Amino acid sequence: MGALRTVGLVILAISVFTFIALFGRLPAFRKTPVAFLHRVLWVYLPNGLAVVDNGWFGGRGVRCWTRSGSYVLKENHPLVLIFFTSLMVIGEIVFVPAAWPRLSSVHQFWVPIVITLPYVLLYKCVVTKSFITEDNHEEEMRRYPYDRVLFHPGHECSTCHFLKPARSKHCSFCNACVSRHDHHCVWLMNCVGANNCMYFISLLVSLSVMLIYGSYLGKSLLSESLEQLVPPDVKIAMQGWTTWINTWSVLVATYPRIGAVFLLMLMTAPLAVSFLAYHTYLIWAGTTTNETAKWTDWKDDVEDGLVFKTRSSLIFENPTAMDPHDRAWPVHTDQILVTDEDPPTEGCLLMSSSNCIAHRPGSDLPPDPRWKRLHSMKEVDNIYDMGFWNNLRDVMGFSVRGPISE
Ligand SMILES: [Zn+2]
Ligand SMILES: [Zn+2]
Repeated sequence: MGALRTVGLVILAISVFTFIALFGRLPAFRKTPVAFLHRVLWVYLPNGLAVVDNGWFGGRGVRCWTRSGSYVLKENHPLVLIFFTSLMVIGEIVFVPAAWPRLSSVHQFWVPIVITLPYVLLYKCVVTKSFITEDNHEEEMRRYPYDRVLFHPGHECSTCHFLKPARSKHCSFCNACVSRHDHHCVWLMNCVGANNCMYFISLLVSLSVMLIYGSYLGKSLLSESLEQLVPPDVKIAMQGWTTWINTWSVLVATYPRIGAVFLLMLMTAPLAVSFLAYHTYLIWAGTTTNETAKWTDWKDDVEDGLVFKTRSSLIFENPTAMDPHDRAWPVHTDQILVTDEDPPTEGCLLMSSSNCIAHRPGSDLPPDPRWKRLHSMKEVDNIYDMGFWNNLRDVMGFSVRGPISE
């Protein structure tokens, strides 16, 4: 029993470790213990080890680790994908044959489907690229308008040597510009972008369903065995956490194949579900993992009182002629944002309407009343947020072009 509790704790520790290592950097966890532990793991611990290594071994350990570590962390290699797939295959080989004879025909119908789907979707996620090439560049330029907050026109990728479309990002792992870049996923050896986002979300749904359904089946089978093992009158006396944990430890030990995989599924299900919840939140907010980092920078500036906003209709005589591209997009805004310590002064000149840079000819001029200092991100328009359903349609690859009724 003691050993089983240790196994349970080890699996729990691995789940927590994976969660912190993968998600700790997300802006959503800023200023939380998760972010702190992530820093401990990726910054303080390596730095501490480097100091010890320098003092004791003359830095040989770090040099050796940097070589292998840079391969593990920086190169686009299949280790994580192999680990992830093996874990699924082994778990299924251990669990399914042991559970199969005891499953009802309804479950015998669903189990193969629930098991197969993640593999199909994983394959689609890995092979579907969202790279921007010379051939599709023109089309990609039309995919999203520039919001002039996170994405400004006129920026060239220094590697690919073409204009960066709005919402795209150059990925150094994939060595390509990626359309609607969300994040580079080491599990997939691929970027999650415009073309595979639908498969990625579906993969998260299918994994969550598989792990929850598997946990449910495991629990049902073990409970069924408990009924057979323990006479009904003994169950009345079975109260309290210790008795409960001990009973389940015995059950897992008696049925190790179902028990071990049940524990693994139970503890990894929250990982899959929280990742799915996070991506559902991103869709709801009309943003991507890449863009949340940019939004967080804006949020910090707004909180520091460094952001000023005006409307292009107040600044330009003919604002609609600014960019014909914007009119194809359902959400329109004429906001112009600048970051500065002092409000833009009267007679201020916008150097370039596309880059939204305020130029102040002299600081002794009075502030321009057309500019308002922002206090909350609620005052900033996100043109990529078209409402949850339209955002979802966009992510899933359906067209959303056309005016959206308020
Ligand atoms: Zn590029
Ligand atoms: Zn990538």
